[in-house]
Amino acid sequence: MSETYDLIVIGGGTGGYPAAIRAGQLGMKAVCINAWLNRDGKPAYGGTCLNAGCIPSKALLESSEMFHRAGHELAIHGVKVSAPKLDLAAMQARKDKISAGLTGGIGALFKANGVTGLEGTARLLGEGKVEYTSHGGEKKVLSAKHIIVATGSEPVNLKIAPFDHTRICDSWDALDFTEVPQRLGIIGAGVIGVELGSVWARLGAKVTILEAMPGFLPMVDQTIAKDAQRQYAKQGLDIRLGAKVLGAKAGSKDVKVEYESDGKKQSETFDKLIVAVGRRPYTGGLNAQGVGLELDPRGFVKVDRQYRTNLPGVYATGDVIGGLMLAHKAIEEGVALVEQLHGEKTEVNYNVIPSVIYTAPEVAWVGLSEEQARAAGHEVKTGVSPFAANGRAKALEAATGTVKVISDAKSDRILGVHMVGPYVSEILQSVVVALEFGATTADLQLTMHGHPTLAEALHEAYLAVDGRAIHAINKKKAA
Ligand code: NAD
Repeated sequence: MSETYDLIVIGGGTGGYPAAIRAGQLGMKAVCINAWLNRDGKPAYGGTCLNAGCIPSKALLESSEMFHRAGHELAIHGVKVSAPKLDLAAMQARKDKISAGLTGGIGALFKANGVTGLEGTARLLGEGKVEYTSHGGEKKVLSAKHIIVATGSEPVNLKIAPFDHTRICDSWDALDFTEVPQRLGIIGAGVIGVELGSVWARLGAKVTILEAMPGFLPMVDQTIAKDAQRQYAKQGLDIRLGAKVLGAKAGSKDVKVEYESDGKKQSETFDKLIVAVGRRPYTGGLNAQGVGLELDPRGFVKVDRQYRTNLPGVYATGDVIGGLMLAHKAIEEGVALVEQLHGEKTEVNYNVIPSVIYTAPEVAWVGLSEEQARAAGHEVKTGVSPFAANGRAKALEAATGTVKVISDAKSDRILGVHMVGPYVSEILQSVVVALEFGATTADLQLTMHGHPTLAEALHEAYLAVDGRAIHAINKKKAA
């Protein structure tokens, strides 16, 4: 006899656990099977985001920024302290406590919403059946009308620089370093590369980032990406573009990396190397082949717009289906899918997905860059506002960065906002709401923003689109 549910969710990360909670709220009998084990051997909900990605990295980014500011900024405020001392073990313990608090909270939310949480692995058996194996090895068969595969992703392991998790590290290893590497190499100047590079540079590492592509942050508006690149360089991050890594060899004390740049072979030796060249879908142990679950050539589970796979009653959400590998995208997919299964017409708006890089200054954007807008055939008008003219940013000793608004010249609709500056991750969310409501530039020019706030820089950029900025010399004539 198998245990019967309305919904089986495979995976307790951001693509899975919110779906299970929403199902519970809607009165469905839901179970979430979660295989995640932390490195201390303990099971935990929340997947990569809460245990090995977003949350622990943000904890370390905040702590390392505190350390840096204590050493470099307090004196400017007239606060005299002796040189700060790093207690990395305490910093790591704080990070672990934050993750544990949040992952523990998911168990409580399951209970409150009548969701059954099972720690262990799930294997598709076909025809609505799933074999569950606990971490202790006991097996049982569950069946359900609906099954969601939300098994997430894992770091790409390069053949030319394979992880040994001591010298050649993945992003999770790099969140758990017990000492600051003197020379830290990073392959890939993507989101993970610059965030982790920032953490360890602030704590004293000499950081070199090798990026194969000739351009920096190609998904970000290039005015903003270039500004960010300048800020990172000032902070001492040595970002080498057009540097194609040929191989890495780990020894007992260091790791030697060979790369090609300007057609010449070069090499560098580091104490640790982080490989951050993207993530790939994870479907290990799922029995995808056995049941005929269709994957694309890169291993992503193939789904249609309703997240249906080729197998009846089997759906997939989150990193494992591809698209932007972002926790909030995965959450919205899981929730939308469950609501659809419940007969509602919920949809995810893939045109309005916010993105953030949590360096200092932060980079945040939603919608099209100027380059993307022009490539899509829009006649474009733009407005730019520097944080240098923003009173709140000056008071925060963080008056660097730029806001850029990209609008359609014909319809006046806002197409995108890209920013680099202090706490722009928070400012961005008002833009997300505006884009969801199809705002025009004029709508937002007429919106009052509190003074003094960082968000005023955003308002100034809306005004600058038509040459109406008050606190900057407008390059174009006021409309
Ligand atoms: P990424 O795709 O953002 O960047 C990887 C970079 O590595 C690219 O610039 C690529 O050109 C480069 N690269 C690839 N092969 C290379 C080689 N052989 N030599 C040198 N460079 C090479 O991937 P990531 O930084 O690993 O992040 C993985 C995923 O996690 C992304 O989808 C990212 O959006 C997500 N993530 C998001 C956040 C956030 O939202 N703040 C934080 C961390 C990770």
